[in-house]
Amino acid sequence: MLTVSGIHKSFGDNKILKGIDFTLDEGKVLVIIGPSGSGKTTILRSLNLLEIPEKGTLQIDDRTIDFEQTVSQNSRREIRKKSAMVFQGYNLFPHKTVLENVIEGPVFVQKVPREKAVVHAKQLLSKVGLSAHLDKYPHQLSGGQQQRVGIARAVALKPKLLLFDEPTSALDPELVADVLKVMKDLAQEGWTMVIVTHELKFASEVADEVLFMDNGVILEQGSPESIFGHPRHERTKQFLSRIL
Ligand code: ATP
Repeated sequence: MLTVSGIHKSFGDNKILKGIDFTLDEGKVLVIIGPSGSGKTTILRSLNLLEIPEKGTLQIDDRTIDFEQTVSQNSRREIRKKSAMVFQGYNLFPHKTVLENVIEGPVFVQKVPREKAVVHAKQLLSKVGLSAHLDKYPHQLSGGQQQRVGIARAVALKPKLLLFDEPTSALDPELVADVLKVMKDLAQEGWTMVIVTHELKFASEVADEVLFMDNGVILEQGSPESIFGHPRHERTKQFLSRIL
């Protein structure tokens, strides 16, 4: 479903990703962990082309991009449509209600009839526990509620791939659990997900595969049992002992 090969990305002279390779099957959950600045967010942003790597290939579903070739606007658009991102800072439209935020993409980008989009959005908002808040504005909600709107908005696009960039790291600790629960439910429903998180307990429960990033490379990769239970690299051991 997802294949990343030989991805390199620099910002100026700083080489941030130095040859990233991994694959992910449909319906599986990949969690990316690692120290601050190791390149986790840059990988995620490369998957939906918010960053354009200099080298490597990206295949999602039936689309492939080779970053060394000139990438046409059309292929960019097609590959972007395959994924939807949930951001750390929610990124909701402040002047739109909860319901309007969720139908925005389907109605205005995907041209889904408004009534149909509203029915679907209401179902999704009920699933994330926000049926009572459809007509509220983002500032009237807690951070955890806003993030659950963010998740509903991503799912409403029916992407092949859901991307989560530290979705709980801006939240007060007591609001984290509800958001993680929604993500676990999505994993159980069979969504294909790539998650950058520092929530290691959650990662061990939800991941099919874990990548440990350090300094622009994948240092270690495997099942949650192997990465958390039997890390091979000293760097991974250090990181886990510091954070657990
Ligand atoms: P964190 O856990 O702190 O979010 P991360 O592993 O997700 O870290 P990235 O956000 O991918 O790391 O950043 C990797 C490096 O790339 C950092 O040193 C960062 O400063 C740099 N970087 C990221 N985006 C840009 C940019 N647009 N311009 C210049 N440097 C950038």
